[in-house]
Amino acid sequence: MTTAYCAVCGWSHETGPETTRSDLNRAMIDHHVETGHTPIETDEATPRAKPATAAAEPDVEWTPVEREF
Ligand SMILES: [Zn+2]
Repeated sequence: MTTAYCAVCGWSHETGPETTRSDLNRAMIDHHVETGHTPIETDEATPRAKPATAAAEPDVEWTPVEREF
């Protein structure tokens, strides 16, 4: 399945039983003409940007200091 989505307004369109690749391209063009946005085409099922690598955790090991009184 190919999905086209717009990162600007959230518009999306995908191929299906009655939507061919040509229909998808036409829909993308129509959206561009109507809004000036440029839809992005992707073959992924979920058109969402993969999160960047998880926030790096500090490599520094914290060692509790035991104090004797
Ligand atoms: Zn849009």
